[in-house]
Amino acid sequence: MRLTVKRLLPACLLTAASIAGLQHPAAAAGSAAPALAKQRAAGVPTVVLTFDDGTADHLAVARMLSRRGLKGTFYVNSGRLGKRGYLSVAALRAIAKEGHEIGGHTLHHPHLPEMFDAAQQTEICDDRRALLKMGFAVRSFAYPFGALDESGKRITMGCGYNSARDINGLYRPDSCQACPVTETIPPADLAAVRATSQTRLPRTARTLREFVTRAQQESDPGVVTFVFHEIKNAPRDQYATVPKEFAAFIDWVAQQRKAKKIVVRTLGDVVGGSVSPVP
Ligand SMILES: [Zn+2]
Repeated sequence: MRLTVKRLLPACLLTAASIAGLQHPAAAAGSAAPALAKQRAAGVPTVVLTFDDGTADHLAVARMLSRRGLKGTFYVNSGRLGKRGYLSVAALRAIAKEGHEIGGHTLHHPHLPEMFDAAQQTEICDDRRALLKMGFAVRSFAYPFGALDESGKRITMGCGYNSARDINGLYRPDSCQACPVTETIPPADLAAVRATSQTRLPRTARTLREFVTRAQQESDPGVVTFVFHEIKNAPRDQYATVPKEFAAFIDWVAQQRKAKKIVVRTLGDVVGGSVSPVP
């Protein structure tokens, strides 16, 4: 959850070049292609709402989304489920039952680049295995702290994930002004799907809306993926978003969706592809 400035800068400089062999075949030519092509032709951005860490508040967050007809992607650490402050397995099942996507975020939220490959593999593959065993159709992964390197990318995709989300790489007014406003469909690098974290920005409905309105001005918009953590009344917590502002933002997102000015999907549905077993 914590993020350093050192981490932010290289992420902004990441190239969009995809790694050979990591492109999911279904994303490149699969079943979801016709619908996605239609969205692009209409010039409508896709908005993806993601929530990291599986904190207990995310059950209420999922319900807030459901009431507005929106689906989110919830990345959880299976090793923390049921612990104090985190979702129980039953709560996570309730979230999935409402049609939200459950994704993996490692067993215990380590800083992966500091670990040996075998330990990374345990954190990523065993987490996915555990979530699959609980009955979740886990296709998507998010790197803890957005910390990723080439070996982490390779290991993640080797665990059968269809995509892995970064926390940076898209436009930010403070640190990534030269970055693209949206990720491409399908994402250029499925092992490092670009997103926009709002850490250190005022997480007001107004600031959040601006990421979407900027995308709506693009001639051929792709995906704006938001990275949320806890939704709670802690204005000084640079990772948390105040519920009132979050509600105002998703009210607007729901209204834009209704007006067909955006499409809202889970990241798993944007990428497409089936649920692969863990090799
Ligand atoms: Zn996290």
